[in-house]
Amino acid sequence: MSEKTRGELLSEKLLHNKKNGFDLLEEKEIQAAYDYCEGYKDYLDNSKTERVCAKYSIAMAEKCGFVPFEKGMKLKAGDKVYFDNRGKTVAFVTVGTLPITEGIHIAAAHIDSPRLDLKPNPVFETDEIGYFKTHYYGGIKKYQWLSLPLSLYGTAILKDGSSVDVSIGDNENDPVFCIPDLLPHLAKDQMSKTMSDAVNAEAMNVIIGSRPFCDDKVSQRVKLNVLNILFEKYNITEEDFVSAEFELVPSYMARDIGLDRSLIGSYGHDDRVCAYPSITALFDAKTPAHTIMAVLADKEEIGSNGVTGMKSEFLKYVIEDVAESMGEKLKDVIRNCKCLSTDVSAAHDPNYPEVTEIRNSTRINYGFAASKYTGSRGKSSTSDASAEFVGYVRNIFDKAGVIWQIGEMGKVDQGGGGTVAMYIAELCMDVLDLGVPVLGMHAAFEVVSKLDVYMAYKGIKAFFEA
Ligand code: MN
Ligand code: MN
Repeated sequence: MSEKTRGELLSEKLLHNKKNGFDLLEEKEIQAAYDYCEGYKDYLDNSKTERVCAKYSIAMAEKCGFVPFEKGMKLKAGDKVYFDNRGKTVAFVTVGTLPITEGIHIAAAHIDSPRLDLKPNPVFETDEIGYFKTHYYGGIKKYQWLSLPLSLYGTAILKDGSSVDVSIGDNENDPVFCIPDLLPHLAKDQMSKTMSDAVNAEAMNVIIGSRPFCDDKVSQRVKLNVLNILFEKYNITEEDFVSAEFELVPSYMARDIGLDRSLIGSYGHDDRVCAYPSITALFDAKTPAHTIMAVLADKEEIGSNGVTGMKSEFLKYVIEDVAESMGEKLKDVIRNCKCLSTDVSAAHDPNYPEVTEIRNSTRINYGFAASKYTGSRGKSSTSDASAEFVGYVRNIFDKAGVIWQIGEMGKVDQGGGGTVAMYIAELCMDVLDLGVPVLGMHAAFEVVSKLDVYMAYKGIKAFFEA
């Protein structure tokens, strides 16, 4: 082999040459990434709403020995507990060997995704077709939700106070639901509108039936027939929708994308693609030095408001419970905590190169993606992580052989977005955004890279074991 020139040596030493992850990994590790993602696809298919995701994650944790935290517990190294906030936000904690005043290493992901919710008075019939009225949740492009097979998930509290869970559409023998789009032949007026006006949110009514109840003495016979089917199976009446939460999500399951199967297409990668690596890294970390926590939050897509959003005091109370169970004060623990806010980033999309700045955008197959800040315009509404904390995380990742990258969401002034990082920073702990780059984020079918998903797992695990 010929010797390297002085220029080659100098460029190796001084230049930050980013590489595609596939050029950096041995075949064995690429296979490990593909294998890891089989578990991830299973998680996606069983976790389409925040409620079922929380429940499924708790079931996984219980298999690994986690138990619900109870007041008065005296926690010690190796103990595994979880905190369930109303079935929608969960924190899993493994107690480490260091004193709790050394702080907790936290990974925080969210488990709600953009979707269509049912309105509180959703059922109606018009021109002999039965519908549910919907109200979209989170930032969607409305046209993407038309002419898709949709599944219905929900929980209703009935008149007698009992609770009923509903899940229709994900079993292959189930019926599904749909909002048919307008045919192009008659869309002359619609096609001349802007994309945000082309689909009227009040026209996003989902078909629930078309067969009339056979009785000439009553009106609204399609609606009556559908309600009768619901009542027979779930004991739900029309009035019960007032105390219910129903969500429509795509019915299809996660699939490999591409002939090389290097990508995964699915509904809800944002943010299960960080939730799954966060909890599996936690489950796989054996008696760590620091106490570690994975928190899966609800309501991120609508601003983290509400009792199950990250703006609630839930995380603070969890840390306080853990601190007190070891005889320490909340403030002595919380200010030494360190957090990875694990949420997706916008991958550079070659079909839309005009919205990203290639030197500073995150890319598919370039690994776990950090964002020092998110927000919009002049870094408005963000937690801008310190150089010290980015340096701390960088060191951990490099030592553990984690393939990672850092970038911004898109071009300055092109738009923007936020994560839970700023609400966590308000508790007085260091926090850095890290996630998996997504193509087509917030669409009903999003795309991620298996290599990146696996690097998220490796990165979070290294952070937990630091
Ligand atoms: Mn997200
Ligand atoms: Mn999102």
